[in-house]
Amino acid sequence: IAKDIILSEKQLSTWGNNPKADLQIISKKKINGKTEVKSLYKNKTISFTIPFTDSASIENALHCAASMLFLGYDPVIIKKRMLALCQVAMRLELKEGINGCSIINDSYSSDITSLSIALDFLNQQKQHPTRTVILSDILQSGRKTEELFTEVASLLEGLNVDKLIGIGPEISSQRGLFSMQKSFYTDTEDFINRFDFASLQNEAILLKGARKFAFEKISRILQQKTHETILEINLDALIHNLNYYRSKLVRGTKIMAMVKAFSYGSGSFEIASLLQYHHTDYLSVAYADEGYELRKAGITLPIMVMNADEQSVETLLRNDLEPEIYSFRMLTLLEEAISNYNGGLPQPVKIHIKVDTGMYRLGFELQDLDKLTKQLMDNPMITIGSVFSHLAASEVRFHDDFTRYQIDLFKKMSEKICSQFDYKILCHILNSAGISRFPEAQFDMVRLGISLYGIASVENEQHALEHVSTLRSTISQIKKVPANETIGYNRQWKATKDMAIAIVPIGYADGLSRRLSNGIGKLFINGHPAPVVGNVCMDMCMVDISKIEASEGDEVIVFSKDHPITELAHDLGTIPYEVLTGISRRVKRVYFQE
Ligand SMILES: *Cc1c(COP(=O)(O)O)cnc(C)c1O
Repeated sequence: IAKDIILSEKQLSTWGNNPKADLQIISKKKINGKTEVKSLYKNKTISFTIPFTDSASIENALHCAASMLFLGYDPVIIKKRMLALCQVAMRLELKEGINGCSIINDSYSSDITSLSIALDFLNQQKQHPTRTVILSDILQSGRKTEELFTEVASLLEGLNVDKLIGIGPEISSQRGLFSMQKSFYTDTEDFINRFDFASLQNEAILLKGARKFAFEKISRILQQKTHETILEINLDALIHNLNYYRSKLVRGTKIMAMVKAFSYGSGSFEIASLLQYHHTDYLSVAYADEGYELRKAGITLPIMVMNADEQSVETLLRNDLEPEIYSFRMLTLLEEAISNYNGGLPQPVKIHIKVDTGMYRLGFELQDLDKLTKQLMDNPMITIGSVFSHLAASEVRFHDDFTRYQIDLFKKMSEKICSQFDYKILCHILNSAGISRFPEAQFDMVRLGISLYGIASVENEQHALEHVSTLRSTISQIKKVPANETIGYNRQWKATKDMAIAIVPIGYADGLSRRLSNGIGKLFINGHPAPVVGNVCMDMCMVDISKIEASEGDEVIVFSKDHPITELAHDLGTIPYEVLTGISRRVKRVYFQE
């Protein structure tokens, strides 16, 4: 529906293998690091060569070719320009560094385009007061040094870089062009020997160096030593998923992104900054503390707090956080806090009224509404930002009649409230599964949760989402276990024949449930399932690798794109929500953007 409305006046053009596509791709052959494409456009065969073989680059190039054809470019020009494309291999990673710094390591390419993309990413990191760039000479740009670094200097200034560390003779020779705090070194060794690393404190640091400068030596010093189990989060995938759900909305419908419980385990400000950068309308957290953390990290989006309590009302008011009000007790607490506020509040507090439409969790009921609206009308220091409710079984087809009943009741309850006020109040009821299954109930806003993090709540939608989180570890040690020996605590596993096991540094304190012990769960090594043997320990576990070729140091996958978290959740008899939010804070989160 949304698509029809938004696109009704646009001309659509398509490309693909399908003969019905405007630009039909007939064949793609990979030869000598290039891809030869044969295609059909308006009954004419068009062939061209793309100088890449990886599928993402090919897809990008085909988008370009298609766009150029639709815009009327001559195929001869397309052919020529395709050959002139060069690879932008980029993979931006955000890692925790020493002294409270965050490190963005981008030493895969060094040219001005990738520098500006990386700077953009740096600029999104509002959680640190200082933004620092460590930059080497830019090699083979084919441009005059001064002209090149004049452009670099204006890029750095435009993106609010506070500090520059230049490494290399060329950048050093242009030091006069830079107006921020700066220092220069002749090469990486010189920098490592002379630089006082303790002087970096609570900064977002971009490391950008040509390969020759071996910046990995610097990143090793800057990165905090981590234990080997990490949760890797693909930020591009998250944005893809955001936009996928955005495309399902009637134009003008807002999105509230649920970032409660540490963004379903994937991080706090890291995720919130990204969502803010991509123009999400609202964020929602469970507790005031979570909201406070986001405000401290520079998040300016409106934030709804779902479980504000007595102790945290003050935090709410001080940090421009908007409480969910679900009961008269809560409302009274808020009113008291407002009237006791030191010096008086500068402006009314925005609240979100939760109504219960049949889930029997928090919320006002129908018979409360007259009293509620009266009390709210009498208090000029409170305004209503939204009225909302929550669906109990939006993903379960069997309960669809009940869901429709909830939606109807919500309509009735929200109208009863909204009609009493002369300003716009947002109404919302849909969560992820609701967005997919009840498009007619979008109202003014939807609340996107689990599916933002790549887990479809409707089975046939999984393919449309991109995979976000991968939990991986490594093999610490491999052992042979003779038949009849026992493995692990309480000797619960007995080897029935000679076997080989791997010890992996992830345990129940990391979020690998102890219920996975003794064959219930499995990890994946070199593509093969390795069943857990013995009891999962606090910090590690043992897996059976008798049938797998593996060495110490090899990667171990707990869940990934190919080994879905839904299966792990199934083995555990739970849902992905519990697995994701159960990954403990000591597991390092590593973020990347392609
Ligand atoms: C967690 C939550 C959501 C999001 O639900 P998903 O199923 O993760 O999309 C929406 N609304 C409320 C009130 C929630 O608590």
